[in-house]
Amino acid sequence: MTDGYAGYRAQLLETLRAKGIRDLAVLRAVATVPRHLFVPEYLSHRAYDDAALPIGNGQTISQPWIQARTLEAMQLTGRETVLEVGTGSGYQTALLAQLAETVVSIERVRALSDAARAALERAGIRGPMLLVSDGTLGWQPLAPYDAIAVSAASPDVPEPLVRQLVPGGRLVIPIGDLDHQVLTLVRRTQDGMERTNLADARFVPLIGEHGWGEK
Ligand code: SAM
Repeated sequence: MTDGYAGYRAQLLETLRAKGIRDLAVLRAVATVPRHLFVPEYLSHRAYDDAALPIGNGQTISQPWIQARTLEAMQLTGRETVLEVGTGSGYQTALLAQLAETVVSIERVRALSDAARAALERAGIRGPMLLVSDGTLGWQPLAPYDAIAVSAASPDVPEPLVRQLVPGGRLVIPIGDLDHQVLTLVRRTQDGMERTNLADARFVPLIGEHGWGEK
């Protein structure tokens, strides 16, 4: 990608490597996707900081490191069908489009989904299917998924999402209270699920039938 931001993207890659991201496909995706197209214009000078930034409607684009850690844990080879819950800006959706075959992304706020669609178009990314609904229910028509990423904080593992994973499938989700969560890898096994803690995290709340209630 040739634009005025190549140097900033290279710096962000260095930061992610220094913080332990090793998956080459994930690093390549970060090197490819123009993050400045997914943040509000007044923040484009900060687009490649390793920081969460506001995107309107009280929501945020997550910190690149936490997104890279999520994508690494999904263990994608390029052939998977994946579900994302919490489209937000669409940036992680764009990364997923580089790493999996089929990407479905659900957002509960229509204005954000519309803005994400426009940003994906500006970035020339046409594959992902964007939906507006309660992502805690998953999306049955394309289930089962090889991997699911939830980018909002949940009190526990939403049961419909585990049911919509293939056996051996990976769900990456921040679990905890509203102030502090642990980014958790949940692997669906033959007889239930296995959990692994990945990192401390702080996300906006997952609001829905299997998340937090509306205020
Ligand atoms: N991954 C996004 C990005 O790259 O910009 C950041 C997502 S932001 C931290 C979390 C998003 O989850 C918000 O846009 C919020 O509206 C959305 N959200 C919260 N509860 C949801 C639900 N039940 N279903 C779908 N989206 C939800």
